[in-house]
Amino acid sequence: VNILVTGGTGFVGGALVEHLIKSGHQVSLLSRRKGKDRRIRWFPLQDGRFPAESLEGVEIVVNLAGENIGGSRWTEAAKRRILDSRVSLTSQLVSACRKRREQCDNMPRLLINASAVGYYGTGEETIFTEEDGPGCGFLADVCRRWEAAAEEASPFGIRVIRLRLGVVLGPDGGMLAKMDRPFRFGLGGVVGSGRQWISWVHRDDVLGVIDQAIEDEAMTGAYNLCSFNPVTMAELCHALAGRLGGRAWATVPAFALRLAFGDMADEMLLSGQRVLPKRLSEAGYRFRHSRLEEALTAIYR
Ligand code: NDP
Repeated sequence: VNILVTGGTGFVGGALVEHLIKSGHQVSLLSRRKGKDRRIRWFPLQDGRFPAESLEGVEIVVNLAGENIGGSRWTEAAKRRILDSRVSLTSQLVSACRKRREQCDNMPRLLINASAVGYYGTGEETIFTEEDGPGCGFLADVCRRWEAAAEEASPFGIRVIRLRLGVVLGPDGGMLAKMDRPFRFGLGGVVGSGRQWISWVHRDDVLGVIDQAIEDEAMTGAYNLCSFNPVTMAELCHALAGRLGGRAWATVPAFALRLAFGDMADEMLLSGQRVLPKRLSEAGYRFRHSRLEEALTAIYR
């Protein structure tokens, strides 16, 4: 199958592209960088403009691209980049599909669009499933608008799957790469109160769910893509310390994080959400990594 991946150079997308090629698919990639990999058809993304020609012959689009959310302080300009790089790119992608249909050209049959469990907002008590509506806050707003932009493709016959990713755990990137260094030196600490929920997923399961989404025509709509066993920040930090040979002695206080990261600290580090993958379980997906300890073992083997 011919598959276009946006964000295919990133932490999730890079692994996905390798996996799709190994599975025998033809991969096209949309990127702001120049590509050298000859196994991939490479399309440039310049000034945030979606190149319509990248859809030629494409049957499936996996849309992951977006400005890194934890990359810098959330200034007004950074927030705009985070939102626009997702919502505007997705809207352009969907209009390019619509145009192809109007011109009776082939059109992708499936759009797999990333989103995040941040859709639900944050909370310590609530357990969120797909039956819950969107929450409050900047990230919830970004997710809601990003999903709505993708969903615009449904009325004209494209199957749309919205994957609300939990914190993706894997080697060489994502949250662990940002967190694990102090733990390697025995200097790690629990972040904030430690009570904030982390709904996590091993990167292999992101690839596994995308495989199933491609095959299973009955899958459509929103899916929480996180394991059945969310943990608290304290549990994650202690597990990480244990795995990397130490203990999480210290705490990293909230005020220091707020000082360093502003609003981002409040929404991303000091609070979280406890989310369950109800619809994936109904779709019969079997997680390869369902316990944190075992996922960390696989990552730090
Ligand atoms: P990365 O930050 O590793 O990769 C994002 C990709 O988006 C990059 O390959 C980059 O491609 C592209 N990109 C970055 N900035 C822009 C921009 N301004 N305009 C257009 N494209 C841009 O993300 P991940 O792989 O970790 O995540 C993939 C998606 O899943 C992201 O949208 C993320 O928000 C979402 N997600 C990820 C989670 C995680 O824990 N990793 C959790 C929840 C959601 P290039 O440089 O080639 O142009």
